[in-house]
Amino acid sequence: MYKNLIGLVDCNSFYCSCERIFRPDLKNKPVIVLSNNDGCAIARTNEAKTLGIEMGAPYFKIKNLCEKKNVAVFSTNFSLYNNISDRVMRLLKKECPEVEVYSVDEAFIDLSGIHNPEAFSRNLKDLIYKNIGIPVSIGVAPTKVLSKDANKIGKKSKKANGVVVLDSNRYIDIALERTKIEDLWGVGRANAEKMRSLGIKKAIDLKTYQNDKQIRKVFSILGLRMKKELEGIKCFPFNELIVKKKEIMCSRTFGDSVFSIIDLKRAISNYISNAAKKLRDQESKCLKVSVFARTNSFKSTPQYYMYGERILTNPTSNTLKLINIAHELIDLNFRDGFEYKKAGAKISSFMDQQEYQIDLLDEADTLANEKLMKAIDAINDREGEKTIKSLACGTDDQAWKMNRNFKSPRYTTSWGELFLF
Ligand SMILES: [Mg+2]
Repeated sequence: MYKNLIGLVDCNSFYCSCERIFRPDLKNKPVIVLSNNDGCAIARTNEAKTLGIEMGAPYFKIKNLCEKKNVAVFSTNFSLYNNISDRVMRLLKKECPEVEVYSVDEAFIDLSGIHNPEAFSRNLKDLIYKNIGIPVSIGVAPTKVLSKDANKIGKKSKKANGVVVLDSNRYIDIALERTKIEDLWGVGRANAEKMRSLGIKKAIDLKTYQNDKQIRKVFSILGLRMKKELEGIKCFPFNELIVKKKEIMCSRTFGDSVFSIIDLKRAISNYISNAAKKLRDQESKCLKVSVFARTNSFKSTPQYYMYGERILTNPTSNTLKLINIAHELIDLNFRDGFEYKKAGAKISSFMDQQEYQIDLLDEADTLANEKLMKAIDAINDREGEKTIKSLACGTDDQAWKMNRNFKSPRYTTSWGELFLF
């Protein structure tokens, strides 16, 4: 029997479930949510899945079916989904000793020290449904990879009723026996193929594979960690980001105080540019932008804290778009006559770029936009940081002293652990 378990809480058909909160008449009815411009189905309830509606199915192809079968069809409403996500995460943080938000609809919870993890999880699941109206599944196991697997099983099994606890090797092995290697968290399609060529078809085959060295050689240290996680050994510790950041913040204390809105905009444009580059590097898009600036609280001069944030309707990783939003936020919140000492920008509420690839042609981030950003990144990677930058970042070192600081390799960049939206 394992102790110190980790739970993965995952909202079922999250976008659809958000829509259902305000449409109780849609309970047990098929619901789908379409991508931007109503292109493809990006979320489906079980009832919609049963009708054969595939993930990513173009709407024009399923329109007739939807009409005939009375499928409730929604366009995306990200500000709603963000808000509901926020409520779910806040409830989790209130009820659980430690929470690691993994995505808009998923979070790991630390269950070490919880006497009866199964009862705790069932209670938590009921609480989320009663308070927020979102159905969740919870998978519990000694490691993150296993808890992801437990969650997947919990979603499919009627008997489990949304909670699966794998706390012994016997249960773990039964679960891994039923898991295809490509369905294991973190194993992409390319890796799955390589694994199959080694005779690893199911997750259990990876766990029992005799040659750790070969796994390491073919799949790097990550592959080996994956195997260890299946063996019940924690390799992706709690609150240590596995792959991607959940938010990116860039901030800096100015060498000299900044008084003008123009200088502040330049500073924040630089921070946004850095953050957006990192966002694209990890192939994510963001749905929230915030900016801040503050005066020196150690001085007896007048004090002001400027803050502005915006939730976006369309996820983006486009630097120019993000700079525009930041400027609007500064225009709304800037106050003249203060001596600003520090400023920063944060982007958060990330989505995977892949989730949006089906939608590249819509107005959110057009293909041309994406290409432009790619080209700029490629040139800057090759020729040096900010060889090409937005004019909003300023043109010379004279404009304000901070520009000199930008050349230093160390920005005061802090990586947050959780969504804070
Ligand atoms: Mg989900």
